[in-house]
Amino acid sequence: MIEFRAVTKRYPDGTVAVDGLDLAVDAGRITVFVGPSGCGKTTSLRMINRMIDPTSGTILVDGQDIRESDPPLLRRGIGYVIQHAGLFPHRTVLDNVATVPLLTGTSRRQARTRAAEMLELVGLPAEYGKRYPAQLSGGQQQRVGVARALAADPPVLLMDEPFSAVDPVVRDDLQQQLLRLHSELNKTIVFVTHDIDEAIKLGDKVAVMRVGGRLAQYATPSELLAKPADDFVSTFVGRDRGYRALGFLAADGVPVGPVATAKVGTNAADAAPTDGWVVVVDDENRPLGWLPAGRLSTLDKVTGDDLVSGGSLYKVDDGSLRSALDSALSSPAGLGIAIDGNGAVVGSVQAGTVLDALAEARRTGEVPA
Ligand code: ADP
Ligand code: MG
Repeated sequence: MIEFRAVTKRYPDGTVAVDGLDLAVDAGRITVFVGPSGCGKTTSLRMINRMIDPTSGTILVDGQDIRESDPPLLRRGIGYVIQHAGLFPHRTVLDNVATVPLLTGTSRRQARTRAAEMLELVGLPAEYGKRYPAQLSGGQQQRVGVARALAADPPVLLMDEPFSAVDPVVRDDLQQQLLRLHSELNKTIVFVTHDIDEAIKLGDKVAVMRVGGRLAQYATPSELLAKPADDFVSTFVGRDRGYRALGFLAADGVPVGPVATAKVGTNAADAAPTDGWVVVVDDENRPLGWLPAGRLSTLDKVTGDDLVSGGSLYKVDDGSLRSALDSALSSPAGLGIAIDGNGAVVGSVQAGTVLDALAEARRTGEVPA
């Protein structure tokens, strides 16, 4: 379907980003390129749609050398999704999604109908079509990015770290949705990530790359885990192997501590600030962000820009230990925000508490020590 034959990319400054890549991507499957930053993932991906030309070697799409195809025509058959979605800020969500069908000569009405279908497909309510990208959350913007890439119904989808900038709970939703879309639509997907867990979760096959643009191993996730080809792969796949268990241990047993909250529009916290911070919440007690306690008196005038992003949240009922740890580590206060099924704040968690829970699971034999 997509075949790299001895593909090398050397940038003008001499950097070899991709070195002799030989790899065949299966049609209708999800292939993941994974590796540390700078190992040539983005360069490899962008050579498929001719945003970057190889220095040497050949890339075939459906058996045809892509040098012989006209780049705009080639790209019509290849959707492209990037981090931060890359949406046009001054166009509505619906118009963003309708962009490619309009470019390819579809009538305005048909393009909008198609765009509305795509929004539904990615699980966004129809009324979001009228909003502007900045009025959506990061996760919702990524959904729009996926909808836009799918609007022209391309057989191939390239995705470059599309979920890396959203918090782990949202990332999990987006990953599940991608797997669902893939099973419904059967696209050939090439997905780039630096996150080995994401690679293993999404990939039918995973290409592990190392800095210098060399392919270290290309295999199914279970082969990678069972038989890493060399020390690099085994270290990369097994990096934090001890912590891998975090991903499948539920966080529901982790003790949830208190956290001070303050309703937006009021200037009193419900408890003494925790380590100098309070969580600002909306009327339904859903978190909006952190505010340094010293600025509490300005809360009636506070805007979104004054709040420090809460990092990630974790759901007490169905979150994993990993999401609890992520949320603690990504919070300015060092406290992860625990939410219930409605998204309301129920308390906080500290990284140390999560690691204690992991140690306890190891001690009782629930996970390997
Ligand atoms: P990844 O996506 O895995 O982080 P990239 O493909 O972006 O890796 O980059 C691979 C290597 O090529 C890195 O060393 C990067 O600094 C270098 N590189 C990327 N783009 C350019 C460029 N336009 N000019 C020179 N070097 C580049
Ligand atoms: Mg990259």
